[in-house]
Amino acid sequence: MVSVRLKDVVKTFGETVALKGISLEIQHGELFTLLGPSGCGKSTTLRIIAGLDFPDSGVVSFDEDDVTYLSSSERGAVLVFQNYALWPHMSVYDNVAYGLKIKKLPKEEIDKKVKWALELVRLTGLEDRYPTQLSGGQQQRVAIARALVVEPRILLLDEPLSNLDAKLRLEMRSEIRRIQRELGITVLYVTHDQEEAMAISDRIAVMNVGTVEQVGTPKDIYESPRTEFVASFMGKTNVIPAKVVERKGDRVSVEFESYRLDGLTYTEDKDDVVVVIRPERIQLHPIENAVSISGKVDLIEYYGFFIEVVGMFGDTRIIARTISDRHVRELKPQGEVTFYIDRDDILVLPKQNL
Ligand code: ATP
Repeated sequence: MVSVRLKDVVKTFGETVALKGISLEIQHGELFTLLGPSGCGKSTTLRIIAGLDFPDSGVVSFDEDDVTYLSSSERGAVLVFQNYALWPHMSVYDNVAYGLKIKKLPKEEIDKKVKWALELVRLTGLEDRYPTQLSGGQQQRVAIARALVVEPRILLLDEPLSNLDAKLRLEMRSEIRRIQRELGITVLYVTHDQEEAMAISDRIAVMNVGTVEQVGTPKDIYESPRTEFVASFMGKTNVIPAKVVERKGDRVSVEFESYRLDGLTYTEDKDDVVVVIRPERIQLHPIENAVSISGKVDLIEYYGFFIEVVGMFGDTRIIARTISDRHVRELKPQGEVTFYIDRDDILVLPKQNL
């Protein structure tokens, strides 16, 4: 178990600046996720922490040690690859034992450790199978057992669920979490799937074109995004371009189309803003401390356990999500609708050039 610190890490590939000087701290025993769209620099960061690639400048520390230019094995990092990279000609047992044999451990010790690792990933009994005789989920368990058997200080997982079907993805997601908690090991996880990141992580770093936009718990990131990019990347949300038209202390009035929203909290200088409203925070009935906007119903979509009402406010589409159909029943396509939103549930953020 280890804590990891990146300080001002820069990495370029020819003309491409993959990492523009990122700093991060991963704590002892936490499951830390790098989340972001394709090409934002997640894998590059992971490879630099794994010791498979080295930065142009900046420092990587494990606890108090500078490991920037150490190899993976010198720094005690093990990466599980997306495609598992199992040896097809070796049995499950031999795949897991391989790293220990290289270390020339005594046979009995190898046997004890392999049994421990296979039990941990719940594969006891499949020791003699070959990778082709295993399901995708089982292959992944072998890859994780093989990584953990050498007792790394940090386990790195690069999009580990991307080759699995939807059901297995959920199962393996819980398994990875269980194993991580059981061992208390530090895990760095990479994904572009925000739901997966939210479900599995202690903390998340949201990345965007070679920078870290925000680090926080899933709840922080979802409920208090600090930038437009983070807000719009974290699930379905309403991000409405608007202009600050009046300021009173830390409260502002903003306008979009012909609508005006008063009494919102905003302290930045920039007048070009976005108003961020989560669909589930919009009510279809009057509530206290609310701003209200009236428009037309564009669509009503039934998803089973919730219903979405898409309203048009001028040319702006705003989605409301509710679990009760009480107020939806009164709505008609193209009919009038009023959305009520608690002022404290409305975020105003500076507009970014995304
Ligand atoms: P993905 O989710 O698609 O894997 P990512 O967020 O992991 O993306 P990286 O693989 O870290 O992103 O890539 C960051 C940037 O660096 C991209 O613009 C990519 O094209 C570039 N890049 C990465 N590796 C190399 C390389 N070996 N040679 C040249 N450019 C590279």
